[in-house]
Amino acid sequence: MSLYRDEGVVLRTQKLGEADRIVTLLTKRTGKVRGVAKGVRRTTSRFGARLEPFTHVDLQLHVGRTLDVVTQAETIHPYGEALAHDYPRYTAGSAMLETADRLIQGEKEPALKQFLLLVGGLRTLADGSHEARLVLDAYFLRSLAVAGYAPALQECARCRADTVRAFAIVAGGAVCGACRPAGAAVPAGETLALMTALLRGDWTAADASQGRHRTECSGLVAAYLQWHLEHGIRSLRHVEREPAR
Ligand SMILES: [Zn+2]
Repeated sequence: MSLYRDEGVVLRTQKLGEADRIVTLLTKRTGKVRGVAKGVRRTTSRFGARLEPFTHVDLQLHVGRTLDVVTQAETIHPYGEALAHDYPRYTAGSAMLETADRLIQGEKEPALKQFLLLVGGLRTLADGSHEARLVLDAYFLRSLAVAGYAPALQECARCRADTVRAFAIVAGGAVCGACRPAGAAVPAGETLALMTALLRGDWTAADASQGRHRTECSGLVAAYLQWHLEHGIRSLRHVEREPAR
């Protein structure tokens, strides 16, 4: 009988059979874990609403042959309650959970920095101290950086020149006039400065930004994230298709 304890954030749940659920969690020590929560869809479930998306829980799991089984769950912080009544914050939080799930592909590979970023992001969203889209963009940029995909912002992604003119997703971020590919976006300097502030966690600068620069920043960050998620998943499929040698 092999039991372990950990704490984690519920990323998503799927129905399993009549009364069970498969719960996907990002945990502090174990990384991404998929566990079975038995009887959780019955009204008499001892887990109640503790294993719902957004909830930060303390867990005990029993190692199973394919999926581990959740044997205990205690709420540490129910972030979902704070987000449920505020649509922009709820959608931003949902995007964070989905991104964490897609960015962290391997199960049971420790991802402490990603866990801390997700908990920090949900806490900041729930306490309402900063605009939801700024919190979301900060989370996207920092989780991409932890995954090894930080965009170049202050020097050219291609030649390292320190005067940047445009933003080119495929090149890896900001580029100089000479390296600029056709069709690259040309954001305002303030937009690139906002992205830098969000990546560094400089909230004084980020909170002072103007709405049009926030809108431009959100568009670029969303496109950059989407490209890396699809590219990452595509390359994984490519690896799987390679014939065994
Ligand atoms: Zn260049």
